[in-house]
Amino acid sequence: MSAPDPQPAAPSAPSSADPIDEVAGPSPADVVRRLLDGPRPLPLVTAGHPVLRHPAAPYDFGLLPELFAELIDAMRETMHAAPGVGLAAPQIGLGLAVAVLEDSAPVPDEVAAARDRHPLPFRVIVNPTYEAVGNERAAWYEGCLSVPGYQAVVDRAARVRLRCQDETGAMVDEEVAGWAARIVAHETDHLNGTLYLDRAVLRSLATHQATAAWWGGPDLIPARVALGF
Ligand SMILES: [Zn+2]
Repeated sequence: MSAPDPQPAAPSAPSSADPIDEVAGPSPADVVRRLLDGPRPLPLVTAGHPVLRHPAAPYDFGLLPELFAELIDAMRETMHAAPGVGLAAPQIGLGLAVAVLEDSAPVPDEVAAARDRHPLPFRVIVNPTYEAVGNERAAWYEGCLSVPGYQAVVDRAARVRLRCQDETGAMVDEEVAGWAARIVAHETDHLNGTLYLDRAVLRSLATHQATAAWWGGPDLIPARVALGF
């Protein structure tokens, strides 16, 4: 686990049995504990914070199960409060390859159908990777809790193969399609230091207000024509 906290490292616990830990600063468990002892929902870090631009450290399930469960609960609470449909650990300042996803798909039926967006039950992805399955693409507006106030169109694979672990450490290898594939790709990108704006069609950039007023429908063509992308 990296130590994303930009504040000076606190002295190591004197009880540490490993002298390397004392040199390296707080243990991963200390970093998580300190995070969880702070305000809830957890404060989100935004674009410009270095933790969003570095690959997250693979999670080796080295935290005590109770502490990891508490972290997942706090991430879920924070995602709901935002509100968002996905949250990667770097977005709470933690450079660890863990993300939570959940989408109740609260959109009109015609929009849900056009975007292949269906309710996605809560899930945890650990150390995820994804790759496109087939050649079908889907371009839609998406936003990011770490880039507040804006949305932009991102062209992504319509179906991806997700390989990861779940919160118990069990291996996952499955295909994910539609809006859920977009969420998987967006959150996995976070864990690789990539923001959606890196992949976005920048001429489509719109505030949430503009998107809600004009570009929230089931068809992207009006936005393409009006904004010139
Ligand atoms: Zn994001």
